[in-house]
Amino acid sequence: MTLSILSVASEAVPLVKTGGLADVVGALPAALAAHDVAMTTLLPGYPAVTATLGKKPKVLHTWDRLLGEPARLLAGKIGVGSSEGHPLLVLDAPGLFAREGGPYVDATGRDWPDNWKRFAAFGRAAADIAGGGVKTLTFDLIHAHDWQAGMALAYLRFAPFSGDGAGPQLPSVITIHNMAFQGHYGADLFPALGLPPQAMAIDGIEYHGGISFLKAGLAAASRITTVSPTYAREIREPGFGMGLEGLIRAREGEVSGIVNGIDPAVWNPASDAALKSGYTARALAKRATNKRALEAEFGLEKGDGPLFVVISRLTWQKGMDVLLEAADHLVGIGARLALLGSGDAALESGFHAAAARHPGRIGVRIGYDEALSHRMLGGGDAILVPSRFEPCGLTQLYGLAYGCVPVVSRTGGLADTVIDANLAARQAGVATGVQFDGVRWQTLADALTRTVQLYRDPAAWRSLQRAGMGADFTWTGSGEAYADLYKSLTVTR
Ligand code: ADP
Repeated sequence: MTLSILSVASEAVPLVKTGGLADVVGALPAALAAHDVAMTTLLPGYPAVTATLGKKPKVLHTWDRLLGEPARLLAGKIGVGSSEGHPLLVLDAPGLFAREGGPYVDATGRDWPDNWKRFAAFGRAAADIAGGGVKTLTFDLIHAHDWQAGMALAYLRFAPFSGDGAGPQLPSVITIHNMAFQGHYGADLFPALGLPPQAMAIDGIEYHGGISFLKAGLAAASRITTVSPTYAREIREPGFGMGLEGLIRAREGEVSGIVNGIDPAVWNPASDAALKSGYTARALAKRATNKRALEAEFGLEKGDGPLFVVISRLTWQKGMDVLLEAADHLVGIGARLALLGSGDAALESGFHAAAARHPGRIGVRIGYDEALSHRMLGGGDAILVPSRFEPCGLTQLYGLAYGCVPVVSRTGGLADTVIDANLAARQAGVATGVQFDGVRWQTLADALTRTVQLYRDPAAWRSLQRAGMGADFTWTGSGEAYADLYKSLTVTR
């Protein structure tokens, strides 16, 4: 029997993306189709999403007042590399979502002041749909992603649309893509949420006297997943759990990690249209054309040391402050750096200053540019990911697929997906990158030095590239793991 899953998320490629969450949500329907799981994705009706629905989209449901806002449920399709696409539901609530700016922030980078209402209404609608409130739609399980979808599970638990309030109507999964974002608000908003008083409890949505949307979802879900086994262990500790470590520990047996995959139709150096020269693990020499083009694009001089690339949000989480401190060392050991990213203003100007200090050695692009990120992976020698914490991380997986050797901190999904080039791993031919412990100037500088040494041994370097390109980080295994999880939760119903 085909299982029918409602996936609830605030972003999904190819329609709206601010980070890895969107890649995962966009890839899941295709990854699950092979396992007899039919996934429907519910997204907020941002302009970029409603624009894909055509002039006369099918209206499946209307709400006169969804937390006070008129709203409609529209039907569409979403798909990457698939002509017919997968089922999409769009919550069209113009008062909440039809505005210019980002999904969570306005044009100046400030959080929308009504984010609580936007994502509470989104959760309320998701619970109505999953709870049987839309007659034409039935689901076996609801899968919520991150804090923006957390309230869906709280509404289902405490105030299901058509149920008697006796508990969740459906089994549920919540996936934590990043514990650092939790959706905290003041307790004064509680009356506006339309939940019964018992929801404002320590095992409900209450969090240190306020409300947490992520906690609401974690407390209500049948199962909790995160995006790598190491991160699933790390969030039991205060440094990673960000205040929710107690809850994670209390639900220990119900928390697991499933590593994200990447879509080989999008991330494949042999067929990548963004590259000047396509290549395979057997024809790595063809990367040289891409490298020269990349050097030219970033205004870099030629050199015999490695060309490091960075594709990242410029934030503390990503260790970008430490990389900035180590930039002079990087240049000093004969390497070069091409960086693409945006984020904290101080880091953006810091990297501009580093590029000005080292013309021809450091090139910086501030912004978001998908095609450029492909060119960097196809031409760079090594990709740097010095994150302080990293639930899964995708760019190191792209690096592996492109023979752009990942140099990563040993945390979360980075620890799970990169095999360090220590002597034993190299002798066994399984090493795929460089790992280092603890994100500090010294540890990063040592890792950079070690990478330059490895690069200067062409046979050793080729072996790292080939082992990475041979590793399978497509969705095959992880799609099956999600399917097995859904089946284990629905089998007894
Ligand atoms: P996070 O979700 O924490 O930002 P991930 O590594 O999981 O980190 O996912 C980031 C995604 O966003 C990747 O697909 C990466 O290639 C992409 N990305 C990040 N910054 C940029 C940028 N400036 N330009 C293009 N793509 C970017």
